[in-house]
Amino acid sequence: MLIVKNITKKYGKNVAVDNLSFAVADGEIFGLLGENGAGKTTTFRIIMGLLEANAGEVTLDGKKIDYNETDHIGFVTEERSLLTKLSVQEQIEFYGTLKGLEKEEIDKRLDYWLDRFEISSYKTRKIKELSKGNQQKIQFISAIINEPKLLILDEPFTGLDPINVKLIKDAIYDLKKKGTSIIFSSHQMEYIEDFCEKLVLLVKGHAILEGKLSDIKSNYAKKNIMVKGSNIEIDAIKKIKGVISVTENQGEYCIKVEDKSIAPKIFNIVKKGDVTKYDVADASLNEIFIEAVGGIHE
Ligand code: ATP
Repeated sequence: MLIVKNITKKYGKNVAVDNLSFAVADGEIFGLLGENGAGKTTTFRIIMGLLEANAGEVTLDGKKIDYNETDHIGFVTEERSLLTKLSVQEQIEFYGTLKGLEKEEIDKRLDYWLDRFEISSYKTRKIKELSKGNQQKIQFISAIINEPKLLILDEPFTGLDPINVKLIKDAIYDLKKKGTSIIFSSHQMEYIEDFCEKLVLLVKGHAILEGKLSDIKSNYAKKNIMVKGSNIEIDAIKKIKGVISVTENQGEYCIKVEDKSIAPKIFNIVKKGDVTKYDVADASLNEIFIEAVGGIHE
């Protein structure tokens, strides 16, 4: 289990991370979100032992993260770090050896992952000769070659097509099943919704929203009512107090409301038409993110 406790990091007067705490259990995928400059990379660097916090503590399975513990951490960072003149095999052997593994073991694991990612024929090719997507797969393999207890993934899907996204996603789910704690960061909220059970949202280094994704979504008052059908009196719906907006996309209306108590009033109007769909849905994480972050800037 990873425990981040009250960490603060300042660069001069700029507080990059402000008294941040969270925990990631074994086999849990945790989302670390925030707009550009919110403090995610700084947090990652502190967790990885690359940067010292001004205050606070990070422990992995009860041990302070030092040189020994970093052998049990894997990461895909935003600034990719492949040595492109090396072959795939040399690169992975380099990383694996740094993490204290024997070459034979590294090779066995590498063969497994290359086969799984359908790139076995690239083993002796130079990294620079690989496509961006395949380089990204190698980056991922280098992060997990040590079978880490903690895996940090910062935008791991950049540059991947949907088929390769699926290959990496399946690999992440398998690692989760084996008990790896995973911290996942992405600006693409659909990945976060897909993946993360818990999350923290940072604004200027400060956690402004945290907890279970399902709780965050259900506690967020604003809802989207999705309606399909004909002869629906949309103008009457627009006039209801508490209706924020009504948009239409391919015959389906999305009615944003202040809270779910407005839903029955809308239903009373909708049912007079020929309705084929009426659904009260939580707001998307994207909407929640934008409002939470926007609110802080006001
Ligand atoms: P992004 O999504 O753009 O990668 P981030 O959430 O990772 O952003 P950080 O890189 O952690 O954000 O930056 C947090 C704050 O700390 C920013 O205000 C940034 O300018 C500042 N900062 C980061 N690194 C340094 C540094 N080495 N020296 C001074 N200030 C820094």
